[in-house]
Amino acid sequence: MTSRELIQKLEKERDLTDAGFVQLIRGILPDEEEELFARARAVREAVYGKAVYVRGLIEFSNICRNDCYYCGIRKSNAKVDRYRLTPEEILLCVREGYGLGFRTFVLQGGEDPWYTKERMADIIHSIKKEFPACAVTLSIGERTKDEYRCWYEAGADRYLLRHETADEEHYRRLHPADMSLSHRMECLYTLRELGYQTGAGCMVGSPGQTVDNLVSDLRFLQELKPHMIGIGPYLSHQDTPFSNEPDGSYRLTLVLLGILRLMFPGVLLPATTALGTIAPDGRERGLLAGANVLMPNLSPSGVRKKYELYDNKICTGEESAQCMDELKRRVESVGYHVVTDRGDSRIENGRRRIDE
Ligand code: SAM
Repeated sequence: MTSRELIQKLEKERDLTDAGFVQLIRGILPDEEEELFARARAVREAVYGKAVYVRGLIEFSNICRNDCYYCGIRKSNAKVDRYRLTPEEILLCVREGYGLGFRTFVLQGGEDPWYTKERMADIIHSIKKEFPACAVTLSIGERTKDEYRCWYEAGADRYLLRHETADEEHYRRLHPADMSLSHRMECLYTLRELGYQTGAGCMVGSPGQTVDNLVSDLRFLQELKPHMIGIGPYLSHQDTPFSNEPDGSYRLTLVLLGILRLMFPGVLLPATTALGTIAPDGRERGLLAGANVLMPNLSPSGVRKKYELYDNKICTGEESAQCMDELKRRVESVGYHVVTDRGDSRIENGRRRIDE
């Protein structure tokens, strides 16, 4: 089959054989990419119209107990100037974001034990008390079922936990021995079962990643059926063991966004900060490849530079939540428009009907 035929088949059947995915990922040519992106846009527009959802991202701690080899804030990186925001500072960010029009807040951080079950529950509670119509998303790594349940009961709606890679051997290449793929996957299934709108995902082009690994990622996503899929290029950080590894591919990330949109028409698909870092118009190009979510930075400007997962992570201001006008302009420049409601997925979760 030609790449064009594979794209048509993928659109129609939302699936390909493993060999079909490998052939498409390896062999797609630039004009065929345009066809993939056009079909992905048509599918996203049939589900979401021209709307782009925005989420205010609050990077509230760069303290992490984990030592993932790729990550700039890994615990062994002694050069990081560590910070954690107090519950009051987090609430101030939310208030500012609410004033800017945000109705979803993503609380992301390293796996920082200071934020105990009770402290996190209090933070979630205070946000939901003041802003009951807003969605709270957590992205704070692997915790216990008891903690996940408590936070869900406190009002958290969504949870982002990238699986990073669905291949055991590749997982071992990226993480130290005290972490495990099976535990990460177990956390994802638990989150789904508890009723969270759940997000998984992976880096594109992380060290040692093969096309077969990417196909395993697609298969895992088919099995998990997450509400959101976050992918972005791997970008190296100078103070990690992977400092000499090449960055992931911009093109391949866009192709995978297109493929994911055809496989999962209703999924929330962000054009990530990493995509905006690898190319100045990366996030706009991501939208044109099938993405429908943006997560501008709402963290206090004083700490933004310290949440450096990879070198040169954009945080100069233009990408930030405070520059809503610029963001809207950029989104409109590619034919879409920003909407500031909760922006739920069109896939059901346990607790809420979507689009309530
Ligand atoms: N600690 C939480 C967790 O593990 O899910 C959330 C924070 S973690 C820093 C968020 C994501 O950043 C990870 O899931 C990973 O995919 C991404 N990330 C980390 N280092 C990266 C790098 N060098 N390049 C691109 N993405 C990276």
